[in-house]
Amino acid sequence: MVRVRFAPSPTGYVHVGSLRTALYNYLFARHHGGVNILRIEDTDRTRYVEGAVENMLRTMEWAGITFDEGPIQGGPCGPYVQSERTELYRKHADELIARGKAYPCFCTPERLDQVRKAQQAAGIPPMYDRLCRNLTKEEADKRIASGEAHVVRMRVPIGEVVRFHDIIRGDVEFDSKTIDDQVLLKSDGFPTYHLANIVDDHLMQITHVIRGEEWLPSTPKHVLLYEAFGWEPPKFAHLPLLLNADRSKLSKRQGDVAVEDYRDNGYLPEALVNFLALMGWNPSATEELFSIDELIRQFDLERVNKAGAVFNREKLDWMNAEYIRKMTPAELLPLVRPLLEARNYVAGDEYVLQVIHAMQERVRTLPDFVDFASYFFVPPDFTDVDEKYKSKHWTPEAKERLRALLPKLEALETWDHDSLECTVREFAEANGISAGKLIHPIRLAVTGKGMGPGLFELLHVIGKAESVRRMEKAVSTLN
Ligand code: GLU
Repeated sequence: MVRVRFAPSPTGYVHVGSLRTALYNYLFARHHGGVNILRIEDTDRTRYVEGAVENMLRTMEWAGITFDEGPIQGGPCGPYVQSERTELYRKHADELIARGKAYPCFCTPERLDQVRKAQQAAGIPPMYDRLCRNLTKEEADKRIASGEAHVVRMRVPIGEVVRFHDIIRGDVEFDSKTIDDQVLLKSDGFPTYHLANIVDDHLMQITHVIRGEEWLPSTPKHVLLYEAFGWEPPKFAHLPLLLNADRSKLSKRQGDVAVEDYRDNGYLPEALVNFLALMGWNPSATEELFSIDELIRQFDLERVNKAGAVFNREKLDWMNAEYIRKMTPAELLPLVRPLLEARNYVAGDEYVLQVIHAMQERVRTLPDFVDFASYFFVPPDFTDVDEKYKSKHWTPEAKERLRALLPKLEALETWDHDSLECTVREFAEANGISAGKLIHPIRLAVTGKGMGPGLFELLHVIGKAESVRRMEKAVSTLN
């Protein structure tokens, strides 16, 4: 039975890399009919951010990632919040001391600082110098009994090679001399990540640890801890890093990294999930658009790459546009509504549905509906007009022609695509000009823009009264 976990630390927003980790765990669990567990790793109280757990839960729900066990669902291995399990970690730290695999350390922060500085000055990698490793049990017990502050450190074996197999990276080796006598329990009695993580993975019967590559250097420590407890380690799969276009580690400085930002900027969860699924995993087909069910069916850790995956924003935009195109205007309406309201644009549902229909093929994100198409809701003010387009198409002759055409448009009884097109084309022909000589100036007068949906559809949606009003105004006031 496959049991996997997503184990975020509530330190703020949800990074897109975390969402990918959560997604891969989810896909793997569902593919194998296994159990997907959510565990909150909140033992580092200095990094804890108020509201981060709630935000994380909302983000997972938005993305459609569900859990079978966790703080909300409960389950047989609870509680699923590490700060509620501290007694367990203390008990396990004691057990390690009793087995000779860990030891209490009384070194003060000042002493550790001096050691570190001396090592840095000597050009050696900073590590604990293991002063307390050889204290006798009697001495250690005496100092503990006298109430001296201490941590518990792991007794890393000397002169060993730690080996493990990673599903994605193959066989991995670390020389134990590069591994610090890591703190397992802090002086406040809280565990560090390493201890809490492996105790919980063991007690929660996790079969596969699927997490980001940044945790690879922690894994030999975890393997040693499993050994120290006499436990069978789970299987490991470390996911490739997400990279900026210049192949540096994906960072805030080069674009959005918070899932919340993508949500707020009008990306659909289906598109972001589809996009992230392909960040490191290669499906066997060349197809790139996958529903969540299709992802579940095809997902496989064997096809996850070692090499970092470049976060290609244009590809995400393309994918999002594809998803918007596949939706019906009625499905899009509730997503576009709040954006209109935020701008105080007032319009009935029927009207907004027509705008969505006209724009659907042209937008990449949801806010594009209001940003590119504001003229459906308010008359253009020509402040952001494309000057090149304007000087080319809004000539004195063009204005005169539009003035002459206007009465014919006003006389139209049916204001629909075909009647509009017919009127404009007949007028062009009668005057020996191309239809473009009318279409561009009309577009400019009515929308203030040089691009958009087909002009006749657009005029139809905006309606006769408003379109004529805008054209008249432009003819008389726009120079
Ligand atoms: N709490 C760690 C994190 O924030 C979990 C790493 C792991 O999956 O072991 O990503």
